Amino acid sequence: MDFEAEKEKLIKYIKSIGYLKSKEIEDALRKIPRHLFVPKHLRYLAYRDTPLSIGYNQTISQPSTVVAMTEALEVKKGQKILEIGTGSGWQSSILSYLVGKNGFVYTIEVIEELAEFAKRNIKNLGIKNIKIFIKDGSLGLKEKAPFDRIIVTAAAPDVPKPYLKQLKLGGILVIPVGNLYLQKMYVIKKLKDGIEKKDIGNFMFVPLIGKYGFK
Ligand code: SAM
Repeated sequence: MDFEAEKEKLIKYIKSIGYLKSKEIEDALRKIPRHLFVPKHLRYLAYRDTPLSIGYNQTISQPSTVVAMTEALEVKKGQKILEIGTGSGWQSSILSYLVGKNGFVYTIEVIEELAEFAKRNIKNLGIKNIKIFIKDGSLGLKEKAPFDRIIVTAAAPDVPKPYLKQLKLGGILVIPVGNLYLQKMYVIKKLKDGIEKKDIGNFMFVPLIGKYGFK
């Protein structure tokens, strides 16, 4: 299978629907090949714009959704990012490319086997600026706070309070909030006198579990 050609077609498609705007994110999609983050038997589907099973009832998110969330996050070189829901490690790796060697990505996964899967995928690409934690990510990661950006790749019933506390002033949080079947994607900016909240559309995610997640 010609993964390079498939990848270019996907990039063209995500641009055509207006989601992909930044050159840096386009480069990241080329440098971090999605087929290396899905189980081998599903590699032939890696460049379709669809979520795919990574086992344990979890998925690697749909590429256009990953792009929409990454665009909304407005990542800059050198930033410190927290991701909740490591899954395959694809989103973390895209972020690690965008922050560059002076930036860092902390990511939390609650399923140990998936954290190990992601660790292998990340190591195979020689990426050094990602650290995976295995714990309840609904609590954030107090010991490494504050963060420039926080991205949540699982559906939350509400915005977990710790995330806003652990975000720097001027920082951005991207999080799908809603019920188990449909969520609104919120882009939340932390300001001196409160927050600014934008809704960028409806999405469907697997649930965030844990203290501030679904019971
Ligand atoms: N970002 C991932 C990727 O690039 O493959 C996809 C994430 S998948 C849609 C959502 C992930 O969130 C699942 O792996 C799930 O186990 C994880 N998750 C759910 N609740 C969690 C929690 N409280 N803390 C950490 N991870 C959690």
